[in-house]
Amino acid sequence: MFDNLSERLERSFKILKGEGKITEINVAETLKDVRKALLDADVNYKVAKSFTDTVKEKALGQNVLTAVKPSQLMVKIVHDELTALMGGETAELELNGRPAIILMSGLQGSGKTTFSGKLARMLKAKKNRKPLLVACDVYRPAAVDQLTVLGEQIEVPVYSEPGSKDPVQIALNAIHEAKAKGYDLVIVDTAGRLAIDEQMMNEIEAIKKAINPDETLFVVDSMTGQDAVNTAREFNERLDFNGVVLTKLDGDTRGGAALSIRTVVNKPIKFVGTGEKLDAIDQFHPARMADRILG
Ligand code: GDP
Repeated sequence: MFDNLSERLERSFKILKGEGKITEINVAETLKDVRKALLDADVNYKVAKSFTDTVKEKALGQNVLTAVKPSQLMVKIVHDELTALMGGETAELELNGRPAIILMSGLQGSGKTTFSGKLARMLKAKKNRKPLLVACDVYRPAAVDQLTVLGEQIEVPVYSEPGSKDPVQIALNAIHEAKAKGYDLVIVDTAGRLAIDEQMMNEIEAIKKAINPDETLFVVDSMTGQDAVNTAREFNERLDFNGVVLTKLDGDTRGGAALSIRTVVNKPIKFVGTGEKLDAIDQFHPARMADRILG
């Protein structure tokens, strides 16, 4: 469906012969291709523009070794720059509290509840954690039921208070329970809305303030393109979250949201969701995402 960027670059460099350096003239066409590839991958326009400006600076004047084709050199520069902009390395969770507390935020449908289950399962199996999941959505009983079903599947208990209308108190009570019963990890799933509204933001802000989590993760659907960036910006302004979870990367999205979000909020992407099943979770690898964006 997408034109592979490497092939495009090959094409635009075919017209160049005998150039020893990358010059302004021979790079212009290529940068257009790079920008087009980024926009095709749903990278925000401003981010794509500033990215190609940076790449241009890096590329100009670079000596082209005889062993390397200029197109290959450009692909490498673009790839390395994308990787660096997305953080370079994999970002780990910082879970120092006892119990360690993770707060989930994001819009309804982003995949928050599913991801809470995936993360609990993963940290239980791989890090030997003893997690407690907490259902803080006081508006949708179905959301509580969904988390309860997930908890049963992965054999992790779910704390909820049917009838309570106070998510802050539910979260505090859950942490109290975790301490009393020896759970060393509390994952708090919160209510989302279809769009950002003041009440939701006030509520999650209040929960964050009350429980002082080790990690506040912002969960976002990678298929939502430009909206993902705006949502990330607003959540970050209110919550100052420390990591992003990009879900639904198993769809046909090229993952440009990863670059846009990272650039706009300057927070690391820590995990990706790659399917509906509970084992469809991966740490975020910047270099792999660069490959995907470039197609
Ligand atoms: P929440 O409202 O934010 O808690 O979102 P849910 O966890 O209920 O997820 C909304 C829908 O997205 C559900 O149908 C999930 O199965 C689905 N979902 C969540 N994560 C992924 C993912 O990584 N890939 C795919 N394909 N679907 C996902």
